[in-house]
Amino acid sequence: MSTANLEEFRQEIRTWIDENLPSELRVGTRKDLPKKLLSQWNKALISRGLVAPEWDTEYGGGGLDRKQAGIVKEELNAVRAPKLRTFGVAMLGPTLLEFGTEEQKREFLPQIARNEVTWCQGYSEPGAGSDLASLQTRAVREGDEYIVTGQKIWTTGADKADWIFCLVRTEPDAPKHEGISFLLFPMKQEGVKVSPLNLIDGSADFSQVFFDGARAKASHLVGPLNGGWTIAKRLLQHERTQDGGSEGGITGAMKDTIFDLVKREVGLDARGTLQDPTIRERLAQQELEQLGLRLTMRRAGEEMRASQTGRDIASLGKYRWANMVKDEQDIAMMAMGAQGLGWSGDGFGADQLERTRAWLTTRADSIWGGTNEVQLNVIAKRVLKIPE
Ligand SMILES: Cc1cc2nc3c(=O)[nH]c(=O)nc-3n(C[C@H](O)[C@H](O)[C@H](O)COP(=O)(O)OP(=O)(O)OC[C@H]3O[C@@H](n4cnc5c(N)ncnc54)[C@H](O)[C@@H]3O)c2cc1C
Repeated sequence: MSTANLEEFRQEIRTWIDENLPSELRVGTRKDLPKKLLSQWNKALISRGLVAPEWDTEYGGGGLDRKQAGIVKEELNAVRAPKLRTFGVAMLGPTLLEFGTEEQKREFLPQIARNEVTWCQGYSEPGAGSDLASLQTRAVREGDEYIVTGQKIWTTGADKADWIFCLVRTEPDAPKHEGISFLLFPMKQEGVKVSPLNLIDGSADFSQVFFDGARAKASHLVGPLNGGWTIAKRLLQHERTQDGGSEGGITGAMKDTIFDLVKREVGLDARGTLQDPTIRERLAQQELEQLGLRLTMRRAGEEMRASQTGRDIASLGKYRWANMVKDEQDIAMMAMGAQGLGWSGDGFGADQLERTRAWLTTRADSIWGGTNEVQLNVIAKRVLKIPE
């Protein structure tokens, strides 16, 4: 598409956003958004094909090319539009596009793009987190089905999910990376028990999941039998790309909120400069880090498309992004002082209580999708190719 046509497309998207996104929702992705308005916005995104803009229209996507999809993302970010980035859209969809059969694509992708089915990720187990390939959940073939037995842990959204994409051991005697398969099956069935876990920030977003004779159709095995490790890794690359990579770090919405908060808490001097020089320096450092990350990941994306670098560069984005969002919340805490340590009670405003929880929530950002140490191992081994 020519530059002029791209500019025309940008205007078209802007107009569409103006017509469809109410001002109450222009605050970023947050848990307390008005449900009715959010549901209307999500429906608008779905009907315009903007949930998965780069997927083919036959799979429920928007059929846009990479540049057009980039424009959509930029315009949505610019107005702090809430995102409909589910496990299905961000991780399973792109993985199925690469490894799924035509039947699997036709069965699952349109449902994902229409947000009709909620997915969860069955990777981690009590004895298999960083060392994921040690997973023990078994799947045994019985006629046209696999029978699944075992346990997953830290499964985000398992209590609400309709389906799970799950790593299972299908060949116990093979070397550990070679006996794993990638299987899809429904969560709402006998043989699947979900037990929510309480988190440090007061939420219970993830669960332990127990499988005792859960059933999966054999046709819902993705990729070759015992060839699931390659697929598992590719899905992780998609997971690691979504925040640190393509999104380019902290969103405009989060950043504005922090600036507003810091200005309010610390105050400005007569020249309009933040009163506290330490916080001022930390914020400036954040700005630089954010810009550096965005440009680095843009360059990495171009290099990846030119086959000059591998997809494991996603680990770099995830690592730097995780540190950045944690640091941002640390700055907010510094600015708020003791008021940033509230958990309940009249002495704290709703905003302050929310901030305490946000600070705690971001502690997990250097754990999910692989810990910081694991990302550094991936960067050392597969990006920098440092000998072990
Ligand atoms: C918010 C959140 C959401 C999550 N959602 C999901 C989900 O939906 N589905 C899912 O399957 N999992 C999920 N997880 C689990 C997550 O993937 C694991 O917690 C993570 O991979 C780490 O595994 P672990 O907790 O077993 O820690 P461990 O692997 O036991 O690690 C403990 C510590 O040892 C370090 N360590 C381990 N091995 C090495 C090594 N080789 N080199 C250097 N250091 C090492 C780690 O960095 C860490 O600090 C989620 C986790 C969080 C925090």
